[in-house]
Amino acid sequence: MNDARPLELQVCRHCARVQYPAREVCRDCLGGELERQAVDSAGELLSWCRLHASLEPWFQQRLPWIVVSVRLHAGPVVLAHWSGDEPVIGQTVGVQWTSDHEGRDVLTAQARG
Ligand SMILES: [Zn+2]
Repeated sequence: MNDARPLELQVCRHCARVQYPAREVCRDCLGGELERQAVDSAGELLSWCRLHASLEPWFQQRLPWIVVSVRLHAGPVVLAHWSGDEPVIGQTVGVQWTSDHEGRDVLTAQARG
């Protein structure tokens, strides 16, 4: 994972709800004016798991691999790849967009002091 970029997510122009994943309309007010904006990248680590198997050759060479669930302070709950020491439930983490080994946008998270 590389190419870290600030966390931008879809925000409703009508009610200001931040939503993820992106949708055609706002899940609260059904408004259709949504735009991608920078949002607070901090959140609380809700849960995590350590993967010991994968069908993807790239991940097979890097196992075990940790994936976390984070409730962003901006609202949405996201799944993200983890980097760093073993995560602790409840800890404050930072989330950002990065590019995976095939150039796809993925979310990554790490401990935030
Ligand atoms: Zn809305």
